[in-house]
Amino acid sequence: MGSLAGLQTPEPFRVLVAGGSYSGLSAALNLQDLCRGLLPRCGAAPAEGEHHESTEFAVDITIVDERDGFYHLIGSPLALASETFTEKCWVKYDNIPGLQSPNLHVLQGSVKSVDPARKVATYLPYGNTADPQEIQYDYFVAASGLRRVWPVVPQSLRRKQYLFEAGDHIRAATASRHGVVIVGGGAVGIEMAAELKLVHSHLNVTLVHSRDKLLSSEVLPDEVKYRSLELLREAEVNVLMSHRLDRTEEIKDDRGIRCLRLHFTNGHSMLADQVTLAVSRSVPTTSYLPNDVLDEEGYVRIQASLEFPKETPNSTAHFAVGDLVRWSGIKRCGAAMHMGYYAAHNIHQRMRELQTQTVVEEEKKSKLLELDEIPPMIGLAVGKKAVAYWPEGGVTYGEEVMKSFFGDDLGFSICWNHLRLGGNKVE
Ligand SMILES: Cc1cc2nc3c(=O)[nH]c(=O)nc-3n(C[C@H](O)[C@H](O)[C@H](O)COP(=O)(O)OP(=O)(O)OC[C@H]3O[C@@H](n4cnc5c(N)ncnc54)[C@H](O)[C@@H]3O)c2cc1C
Repeated sequence: MGSLAGLQTPEPFRVLVAGGSYSGLSAALNLQDLCRGLLPRCGAAPAEGEHHESTEFAVDITIVDERDGFYHLIGSPLALASETFTEKCWVKYDNIPGLQSPNLHVLQGSVKSVDPARKVATYLPYGNTADPQEIQYDYFVAASGLRRVWPVVPQSLRRKQYLFEAGDHIRAATASRHGVVIVGGGAVGIEMAAELKLVHSHLNVTLVHSRDKLLSSEVLPDEVKYRSLELLREAEVNVLMSHRLDRTEEIKDDRGIRCLRLHFTNGHSMLADQVTLAVSRSVPTTSYLPNDVLDEEGYVRIQASLEFPKETPNSTAHFAVGDLVRWSGIKRCGAAMHMGYYAAHNIHQRMRELQTQTVVEEEKKSKLLELDEIPPMIGLAVGKKAVAYWPEGGVTYGEEVMKSFFGDDLGFSICWNHLRLGGNKVE
């Protein structure tokens, strides 16, 4: 395993990353920077006069992802409303300039098991249902997020198939006479309703929520919930609060055309052509990990250094980042990329420790970056405007907030540039 400086051990460190989205790409690319002696792309610039301690290592990074490309998940509400944006939202890994490097490989497949004691993982290549392949590694990063259902997230694994999936959904929604109903007033439901109405202003879009406040399961100030409702109404989305869907019945309307009648538990009923459920809980994709690193819901019980629990064999070689970790705060892509950067820094640090065996335990520890508690914060796009909340800034909302949190493409360019997926050029 190898330092370029010492040249005693020419074999590169082998790093395996499960999941090639925000957190996994951040871990891989920041590690790539550090191992080349560069400043990590997602780290803060060093203060004036501060010295960047660089140590180069030969490293070979493999990312395994079920999809054939980077899917900008945050953009889903727009990708499932606008066919132009559908195209933009998924970029095949082969077409991402920032990933083209001889020591960075992306494999399409599903990670199936990880054995921390042996440092061996297995994965099933795409299209192969019976023949798992083994991958040996020196460091492992779990970055495979949560399993989310359709139509919150497209289920296709290839871009070509995804364009059909999203296109069919958009055409069905836009052909609607009676309207589209989105059930669930959490962040996803709010954004889906608002984007659909923004792109197709002629459509009758209704958001129904069973509680008397939107975002009712989030620990956020009431003002965020109230402003979200206000902005939705301003965007001309019909909002039905305190409406719990009881059942949906297929009927023929007065013209003899098939549609749906929705019945609510309060006795209200209405017609619609399409009903989108944005209520189901997403679950961690961690079934490939040993049970004893997981909590009862399947989240990885990380230490603040993002390493697996101390008692795991080779815990200092195993990291977890992004949505699948048990940590405070609302699951957000900013946090996922930040964790990826911390994991990269800490892996690089662990590589250095292997080189300098003489460093005492406490000194080693202090060089690791550790996560602080993350308070609840949110940025929510509601049509042309956005609502945001973080503890220092309080609640802000409006078109400027939209611009700074999401730009004009629901955050695609912000994430793309932050991870420098275009190579060194910022687009
Ligand atoms: C509709 C929607 C809107 C959102 N809006 C916002 C927002 O406005 N702002 C914000 O900050 N956050 C938002 N989020 C949350 C944000 O998308 C997540 O916090 C973020 O995607 C987490 O990144 P991740 O890398 O941890 O996981 P993910 O983005 O879920 O990526 C996981 C990757 O792992 C792959 N994978 C899964 N299982 C395996 C396996 N077994 N083997 C190999 N690969 C696997 C998947 O294909 C995927 O590419 C939104 C989420 C949704 C669903």
